[in-house]
Amino acid sequence: MELQLRGINHSYADREVLRGIDLDIPDGQIVCIVGPSGCGKSTLLRMMGGLEQPDQGQVIQQGAAPVGCLNPLTYIFQDFALLPWRTVAGNVSLVLEDHPIAQADARAMVADVLARTRLTDFADALPRQLSGGMKQRVAIARALVVKPAVMLMDEPLSALDSQTRELLMEDLVNLWTTAPFTAVYVTHNLAEAVRLGHRIVVLSRRPGQIREIVELDKPLADRTHGDRDLDAQQAHLWDAMRAEAAAADAELVGG
Ligand code: ADP
Ligand code: MG
Repeated sequence: MELQLRGINHSYADREVLRGIDLDIPDGQIVCIVGPSGCGKSTLLRMMGGLEQPDQGQVIQQGAAPVGCLNPLTYIFQDFALLPWRTVAGNVSLVLEDHPIAQADARAMVADVLARTRLTDFADALPRQLSGGMKQRVAIARALVVKPAVMLMDEPLSALDSQTRELLMEDLVNLWTTAPFTAVYVTHNLAEAVRLGHRIVVLSRRPGQIREIVELDKPLADRTHGDRDLDAQQAHLWDAMRAEAAAADAELVGG
C-alpha cells in the first residue's frame, strides 16, 4: 500500500505547523523525514496514521494492504511504550487479541516475529529486565506481527546509545532485506536517515515545508558504517538543514 499526502496544511491555534505538504510514501520503501526540532515531523506522522486530521489536505491510502494484514498502520515510538507487567511475548501477542485468530496460530505468529527480531530467548522476560535496545526490538516485533501496510516510526532510536543504535539499524536493514516493508521513519539524526532511507525528505523549520527530497539508490544491505557515499550524502543533507536548524534553535532560545 502506498500513502499519498496531498496539500496538507495545519495549525495549532495561531501556531502554523505544516504548510503545503505533498508527498508519496511508495510501497516497499523506507521514507525518512528529517527536520529541526519542532518543525512538525511528529504531527505529520500522526496525520499519516489517522490519529489527527489536518486542517486542509488529505492522506490517501492507495492500493491493497499486504495479505494477512491485521492493522494497516502501526507505530513505533522513542519510548517503546511496552506494558511493564506483560512479558516480551505477552506484549507482542496483545495486539493480536482483538482479532479472531486461533490461539495456536497466534502463538506461531508471535514465535515467528520474535525469531526475526532475535528475541526468542527473551520471550518470557519482563520489560524491566531488558536493555533499551531489546525493548525497542520488542516494539518492532509488536509493530510487525500484525503485518502492517505502513510502519510509522517516530525517532525510534533516539533514546538509545550510539552502539545500540548501530545494532538496531543493522537489525532494521536485515528485516527489510529479508521481507521488505513500507515505513515512514522520522528522525533528527542524519546518519540514521542515510543508512535506512530509500528516500529522505528534508523539512524546513516550523511551519514545516518540504525543502528537498533526496533519493538514495544504494541497496540498504550495502550501506555500511563509515561508507563514503553516505558520508557525502549526510554532508549534503546537513548543508540543506543547517540554516533551518540554527534558526529553529535561536527561536527556541529566544521564544
Ligand atoms: P517535531 O516532531 O518536528 O519536533 P511536532 O510535530 O511535535 O514537531 O510539533 C510541531 C509544533 O507543534 C511544535 O511547536 C509543537 O509545540 C506544536 N504542537 C505539537 N502538537 C501539539 C498539540 N497537540 N497542541 C498544540 N501544539 C502542538
Ligand atoms: Mg517529534
